[in-house]
Amino acid sequence: MKENILGSVNDFIRDRVRSDLEEGEINTVVTRFPPEPNGYLHIGHAKSICLNFGIAAEFGGICNLRFDDTNPVKEDQEFIDAIQADLQWLSVGWDRQAKYASDNFEQLFAWAKRLIEDGKAYVDDLTAVEIREYRGTLTEPGRNSPYRDREIEENLALFNRMRDGDFEDGSRVLRAKIDMAAGNINLRDPVLYRIVRVPHPRTGDSWCIYPTYDFAHGQTDAIEGISHSLCTLEFEDHRPLYDWLIDNLPVTARPRQYEFSRLNMSYTVLSKRRLTQLVEEGHVSGWDDPRMPTISGLRRRGVPALAVRDFISRLSISKSEGTVDAAMLEHCIRDSLNQTSMRRMAVLRPLKLVIENYPEGQVEEFQSANNPQDESAGTRVVPFSREIWIERDDFMEDAPKKFFRLSLGREVRLRSAYFVTCTEVIKDASGEVIELRCTYDPETRGANAPDGRKVKGTLHWVSAAHAVEAEVRLYSPLFADENPGAAENFISTLRSNSLEVLKSCKLEPMLAEVADGEVVQFERLGYFCTDPDSSSRALVFNRTIGLRDTFAKAMAKR
Ligand code: ATP
Ligand code: MG
Repeated sequence: MKENILGSVNDFIRDRVRSDLEEGEINTVVTRFPPEPNGYLHIGHAKSICLNFGIAAEFGGICNLRFDDTNPVKEDQEFIDAIQADLQWLSVGWDRQAKYASDNFEQLFAWAKRLIEDGKAYVDDLTAVEIREYRGTLTEPGRNSPYRDREIEENLALFNRMRDGDFEDGSRVLRAKIDMAAGNINLRDPVLYRIVRVPHPRTGDSWCIYPTYDFAHGQTDAIEGISHSLCTLEFEDHRPLYDWLIDNLPVTARPRQYEFSRLNMSYTVLSKRRLTQLVEEGHVSGWDDPRMPTISGLRRRGVPALAVRDFISRLSISKSEGTVDAAMLEHCIRDSLNQTSMRRMAVLRPLKLVIENYPEGQVEEFQSANNPQDESAGTRVVPFSREIWIERDDFMEDAPKKFFRLSLGREVRLRSAYFVTCTEVIKDASGEVIELRCTYDPETRGANAPDGRKVKGTLHWVSAAHAVEAEVRLYSPLFADENPGAAENFISTLRSNSLEVLKSCKLEPMLAEVADGEVVQFERLGYFCTDPDSSSRALVFNRTIGLRDTFAKAMAKR
């Protein structure tokens, strides 16, 4: 695993930053991560975050978290709070106050008036539908609005009255006066301000007009002294507009905008619109549902921030679009958890096993390694007694030769304990196996048999008298389609079994004390962490990830 997660990598953006510095074009690198607070951050945002914070750190600059909060209709304080919590958790070196485009609403308003005064913006009375009709298409030029040639004085008066709340929502807009025949549609007199009577999470009821994203974004970059405005490819066509605005306003700074391709991941949707739909329609329990590709979902599932950063560091920063295999993220998660997690025993689908020749009431304590990869992690005590739980899957009645687990007459090792041989199978009236009877060999305590006989299987187990019970939630991919976003109706590609809830799982006693945020390995099963729904009375665990590629298996079963 790469240790220096945000460390110096080479890509075309870093090359340009380097040459901008060498040529003396800029002195200090200032970048920003600019989310709209209209949803939670997802793994795609992590790419932008690591790039912006990484470059700032490498070149001795700074990186701002800036909320581009220009559309209160969709924005909410909940998202502002969640984004900051996620950014903290990602540990990319964000240690400053958040900034907001809305901090600059007065300045932006003044600049809009400046454009009007210079004859470069006008108030348009066309409806939204008409504006669209007048805009033209990729092959046809647009037409000028009949209001385009209003006098400057009239425009100023109308714009002030827009601010004062004299007009209905949507009845008028302020537009830049650029060129309705421009090849780039973004330059066909883009809307700069609209009337929206919706309170803003930060400015409350102070404003009933709001700047558009395009008007606010570049100017806010300039106000913050952003040297490098790094964004995804869809903004490439907006750059000429940002340049036009900067050229026509009294701003001195000119951020350099470089675009890179978004992260797309297989079996995943990363569009906020779609993620919002999953939440609002109740297909998931919330933005932090552990199946969501959100940062908070990954965190709740037990994914370490380190694994997220490691994953991002393996992506290429380029202009070519592509889709990353979701298995790559899984690989990074396993890689990081394998080194740090304590080993524990838990039985998810329990089957009782009674050792008939083991004294009733006797308890033995076995020392078991916390982490075979790390001797310094020490050992723990695991109690053993006459009745234990084993995994239902670890017993098979008519077992084929290659089945190396338990079967009538066969012998296996119980991890860290003894060899046991199954002597009897007890079934209920319906024929279902409900209990196994075994004998154990006291000579095999924590070791091989003195006579040298071998067993092929080692099972995990939990002493019935000592077990703590828990609910365990198993997650697998939400979507059956490799590219759900491309489906006509992505909701129809949701899998029905992406969450499986197991009740009354049996856990070794140590598992009653797992700390929040700690991930443990349930031996032979995978990595698990406690869920925030967990309490001392009702433990709930999430499976972070299986030990091997559970992904392929889950997809085969879909
Ligand atoms: P939507 O999903 O609706 O397109 P968005 O993800 O672009 O919205 P923003 O809040 O504008 O939402 O994103 C903040 C920043 O994160 C932007 O600079 C954007 O370019 C970047 N970003 C968003 N999604 C990805 C992605 N999948 N890969 C890389 N960067 C992304
Ligand atoms: Mg966006």
